[in-house]
Amino acid sequence: MKAKDVVAMIKEKNIRVIDIRYMDFPGTWQHFTVPACEFTESSFEDGFGFDGSSMRAWQNIDNSDMIVVPDSSTAVMDPFFEVPTLAVIGDILDPITHEPYSRDPRYIAKKVEQYVKSTGLADTIYVGPEPEFFIFDNVRYASENNASFYEIDSKEAIWNSDRDEMPNLGYKIRHKHGYFPLPPSDQYQDMRTEMMLTLEDLGIAMECQHHEVATAGQSEIDLRFSSLVKMGDQLAWFKYVLKNVAAKYNHSVTFMPKPLFEDNGSGMHTHLSLWKEGKPLFAGNKYGGVSEMALFAIGGIMHHCKALCAITNPTTNSYKRLVPGFEAPINLAYSSRNRSAAIRIPMYSQNPKAKRIEFRTPDPSCNGYLAFSAMTMAMIDGIQNKMDPGDPMDKNIYDLPPEELAEMGSAPASLEEALDALENDHAFLLKGGVFTKDAIERWIKYKRENEAKEVSRRPHPHEFFLY
Ligand code: GLN
Ligand code: MG
Ligand code: MG
Ligand code: MG
Repeated sequence: MKAKDVVAMIKEKNIRVIDIRYMDFPGTWQHFTVPACEFTESSFEDGFGFDGSSMRAWQNIDNSDMIVVPDSSTAVMDPFFEVPTLAVIGDILDPITHEPYSRDPRYIAKKVEQYVKSTGLADTIYVGPEPEFFIFDNVRYASENNASFYEIDSKEAIWNSDRDEMPNLGYKIRHKHGYFPLPPSDQYQDMRTEMMLTLEDLGIAMECQHHEVATAGQSEIDLRFSSLVKMGDQLAWFKYVLKNVAAKYNHSVTFMPKPLFEDNGSGMHTHLSLWKEGKPLFAGNKYGGVSEMALFAIGGIMHHCKALCAITNPTTNSYKRLVPGFEAPINLAYSSRNRSAAIRIPMYSQNPKAKRIEFRTPDPSCNGYLAFSAMTMAMIDGIQNKMDPGDPMDKNIYDLPPEELAEMGSAPASLEEALDALENDHAFLLKGGVFTKDAIERWIKYKRENEAKEVSRRPHPHEFFLY
């Protein structure tokens, strides 16, 4: 929709409030609401002011004024508010110069699209994420002993809450058997369908919803692929819709990658492909039916993987997921069939249009705009520098002898390690002015000081068991 169409629609439908949204730096959607009388065609140029110093890792208090300028093409009715409300996503600008803000994640994603076009390599980046998440019962988990979330050295403690209770009464899902028996074992069918259909009503194309492997409640809903900036917008809607549908059922959705000890974590496998003039550039006659360009893109992701993780797996908890035995990829390998590899070439369809690579390391705690941007920049760097990904790994990586494993690179073991890697390896992100030095430095500083350090300073529940 153009600005004037949005204004006409507000009048026609007698919409009284407009909710303005934008993504903050770490990846939480923010909003405020204006009455329709304050909202005119010029709002799409002048924007609305807010305090940038109250946003994490943005402005200082002495330089806090910022504006958010709504993007008319994103306007859609919010599905949850009682009062009919039009929601519009905005871009962040400096109020004086009207320059876009270098730490606005959506602006970074827009620059990737422009940069990729400017290289002449491709004109479209398609992104298809598969976010996994847990659904928890608010009442039950609030009243239960928190110990079950952390505990302990023995299997007993793990099994005594949701997990393999003996005898198994009441259709409880067996430990690691959540993928995917029907109800009544699967208790969340209707909730997930409501989530999926609410997203469809918002114009977001969905592919599938299902229970996942972990104990009752771990689920996945897959988005149909879309272009990069659009997918950043859609992932923001996705998290918002899931949390709000769950809240109606007195449940919570979490995108925390590893909420439960000794159970599978939540990843966000991301399918990626490049296109030019309507033609898929990743289809070809190399290994797995992909092109040489796709192999170089894989090479780029593998080469920069450790640094990428600081953006695609950006929480201290992310690294509790990246451990062996839970279907999460640890080693830097690629394969056409192997789900233990960091990059898979899906073989479900031999249609060239379906040819893509699946990067399995990312998790849904990331900021979608930044994560999709960083992955794309790694692929482009791999293509430009013809980075050879080496031989594919078609064995089960979890079963390899330690010598063979050591030869393969691995994902970082902690957020600190990923941030160190990003500090040493980010030239590929600066190309075309996509990520600025300012954005990278501020990201590293924020994550180190506000997250890694703050978590390591606190006594951990498990320390009480050990000591
Ligand atoms: N939960 C697994 C992960 O952490 C993936 C499981 C699957 O989709 N096969 O990546
Ligand atoms: Mg999946
Ligand atoms: Mg899955
Ligand atoms: Mg997958």
